[in-house]
Amino acid sequence: MFIENKMESQIHLQSMVHRRQILNESNFGSSPMYARQKLQGDMLGTTYQRVNIDVAQNNQCQYRDSVIQEATTEEKQELLAYVNMLQAQLTRKRVAIIGSGPSGLATADQLNRLGHSVTALERADRIGGLMMYGVPNMKTDKIDVVQRRVDLMEKKGVKFVVNVNVGNDPAFALDWLCEDHDAIVLAVGATKPRDLPVPGRDLSGVHFVMEFLHANTKSLLDSNLQDEKYIFAKGKKVVVISRGDTGKDCIGTSSRHGCSSIVNLKLLPQPPNTRAPGNPCPQWPRIFRVDYGHQEAAAKFGKDPRSYEVLTKGFIGDENENVNGLEVIRVQWEKDASGKFQLLPLFTWCSDEIVLILTGYRRV
Ligand SMILES: Cc1cc2nc3c(=O)[nH]c(=O)nc-3n(C[C@H](O)[C@H](O)[C@H](O)COP(=O)(O)OP(=O)(O)OC[C@H]3O[C@@H](n4cnc5c(N)ncnc54)[C@H](O)[C@@H]3O)c2cc1C
Repeated sequence: MFIENKMESQIHLQSMVHRRQILNESNFGSSPMYARQKLQGDMLGTTYQRVNIDVAQNNQCQYRDSVIQEATTEEKQELLAYVNMLQAQLTRKRVAIIGSGPSGLATADQLNRLGHSVTALERADRIGGLMMYGVPNMKTDKIDVVQRRVDLMEKKGVKFVVNVNVGNDPAFALDWLCEDHDAIVLAVGATKPRDLPVPGRDLSGVHFVMEFLHANTKSLLDSNLQDEKYIFAKGKKVVVISRGDTGKDCIGTSSRHGCSSIVNLKLLPQPPNTRAPGNPCPQWPRIFRVDYGHQEAAAKFGKDPRSYEVLTKGFIGDENENVNGLEVIRVQWEKDASGKFQLLPLFTWCSDEIVLILTGYRRV
């Protein structure tokens, strides 16, 4: 129910003083509780239900006299006061938000509650950013969690436009956006991947993490993986080169695809089980953690997939330019005389027949 949501969010945001003032002026009595019941009950009742309060679509409140012909004079006055109250709270400011990940959605929600007219523009074909197409479905359900939230926000008046690449799409040039809106919010995330510029990087079978995870979730949502428009790890020896947490989602997804083996290469040493002296509170604790991806891989292949202090030197390909190996160096981190950490090469080894997934991304 849009009216209920809008009314609730609008009233909730008013200070008590302002709220009481509005409610008094609106003939709803001085009790906010009374007013809430009145609005939620009577306003959504038989007469008021048919009133067209068009805040969501047009950022304006109006009602049609024709649909409240049978209302009493007193009810009409109350309704008019209600409409006036909502109108007074609308700022008529138009805000465009570029990007619809958690930052864009949170911003849209807050601005909408404040009475602004908000439009979120998204490059992808679904709203949600990495919550939709990064974090795998097994960790956050895309329909029951992400899309549900988007639907609720849409009912509260936020407008969403997908398949819009702001800056590249001529119909959504920045100049036009600036002219047509009072404010622009950039919530574009960090979608530029960090590359690994080593020999063999261009071989077929070496992928960025988001190519892998995005395609997997899209195919899952579009066709329950029936369209096969994703990178299939079944039967492959998978190597995940990652420093951060994203690797565990690649490990979990690859395991569930049915890969034949999986290794997660990490350049840094294994973190300690408890905080190191140089990592005091309130810093984020850099400690060893076991996540679902590690657990699932360990259950399937008999050991934790992570291999520490490994530097990737290059990828090896077959005659068809498909990756089938990699050259890595086992390293050791040691401090030199000046106290700086140095990488000591220990030995080089080669693997065979792999799908490689590079993880990492950064802000542009
Ligand atoms: C695999 C993975 C797992 C993760 N797991 C967790 C977790 O368990 N817990 C946790 O807290 N965090 C997790 N994160 C991190 C979390 O997803 C991000 O921190 C969060 O999504 C960042 O939100 P954001 O809105 O800044 O950016 P994003 O979510 O990246 O959203 C930015 C949006 O902007 C859009 N965009 C960019 N440029 C344009 C343009 N020109 N025009 C239109 N749209 C544009 C993009 O398409 C994108 O949808 C994970 C991330 C990944 C990749």
